[in-house]
Amino acid sequence: MTRTTPQHVPMNQYRTENNCLVIGNTPLDILAHRIGQTPFYAYDRNLISQRVTTLRSKLPDQVHIHYAMKANPMPAVVQHLAGIVDGFDLASHQEMLVALDTTMSTDQISMAGPGKRPQELAAAIAAGITVNAESFNEIEQLAIQSDRVGLPANVAVRINPAFELKSSGMKMGGGPKQFGIDEESVPDALVKIKQLGLNFIGFHIYSGSQNLNAASIAETQSQAVDLAIRLQSDCPAPIAKLNIGGGFGIPYFPGEKPLDLNQVGDSMATLCDRVSAELGKTSLIIELGRYIVGEAGIYVCKIVDRKLSRGQVFLVTDGGLNHHLAASGNFGQIIRKNYPVTIGNKLSTQQIETASIVGPLCTPLDLLADKMQLPVADIGDLVVVFQSGAYGLTASPGMFLSQPEAVEVLV
Ligand SMILES: *Cc1c(COP(=O)(O)O)cnc(C)c1O
Repeated sequence: MTRTTPQHVPMNQYRTENNCLVIGNTPLDILAHRIGQTPFYAYDRNLISQRVTTLRSKLPDQVHIHYAMKANPMPAVVQHLAGIVDGFDLASHQEMLVALDTTMSTDQISMAGPGKRPQELAAAIAAGITVNAESFNEIEQLAIQSDRVGLPANVAVRINPAFELKSSGMKMGGGPKQFGIDEESVPDALVKIKQLGLNFIGFHIYSGSQNLNAASIAETQSQAVDLAIRLQSDCPAPIAKLNIGGGFGIPYFPGEKPLDLNQVGDSMATLCDRVSAELGKTSLIIELGRYIVGEAGIYVCKIVDRKLSRGQVFLVTDGGLNHHLAASGNFGQIIRKNYPVTIGNKLSTQQIETASIVGPLCTPLDLLADKMQLPVADIGDLVVVFQSGAYGLTASPGMFLSQPEAVEVLV
């Protein structure tokens, strides 16, 4: 058997024109001039729309698709998504303000996250959105803030389930966690919600992220539905909404394959039948961040130096870890692997070399590509990091080393 080096999934969502990557119908070099600076992030609105269309065609009609805003909270992106998804899930007051600037109906917006401050809870109540309560204290505080504001508090219970999402990049359920109320304490939380007269909406069960395995997603989803069915008799009102999380992953690294959405769709059809049979009119919600926007965005920086150190080529750029922590391998990765990276204005070049791409920061962590096969590049060329539409700019330490900021455009 021949051993082949694992490759990145081809980034064939983009066209090439005269050697140059095209995004939003604009060649990259022209886009750079139009923006007037590098580094920048560019997000393609058509690719975002196409992704939602694909989800709708593969998943049962009953499934409500929500966007998890922390993946990419750029206001223009959120505006665009407001017209095509069914709801927003957010995790801060600032994200809520961005969501409320759109046409999204407030009863399709929910706020999760530990440590919500009293003012944040009051703001959520005033806006009429649903708060996913993460603790007993938060439930009590919701009652206090509801009295203060003079409006009812819509509350869903975020459950920390006993199960976890297998083969997931980042686990957020199972075992002791800062997220949600432990499954075994949920009946007590429901009693408290009833005593305090809060408006019970349903459950939020989120157990992980970045999963490429359809079978493990299906297993976790069905466990979440089973859990809601078991808790049904303890609820102070019917379960209007059941948010079973998301976790749909995208391929970032060599050897990773895209999630089999057909398989996810098939298992969700069975799941929807079970929900209607056992829970009645409950709406089933999934919340996706990176799956909706991650593959629709690129990070672009410019090569400002090319040097040779003891035989190894280094391409030094005007941005790196400070704008794109994840691509540098420092956003929760255990072993550093290269993101799909290329030279965006030299795509058809025949000359290939092994080079490392490093950012301008005075730290060896600032590495965008480690000894990758790349088109031979020089000063002024544009480095493109693919799969950058989620957890990019706002998930990076932009202040580190006081370098210039990156800008974001939706094209
Ligand atoms: C981060 C987060 C998401 C989004 O995760 P993705 O991997 O981007 O899809 C969804 N729900 C909750 C509660 C989250 O914290």
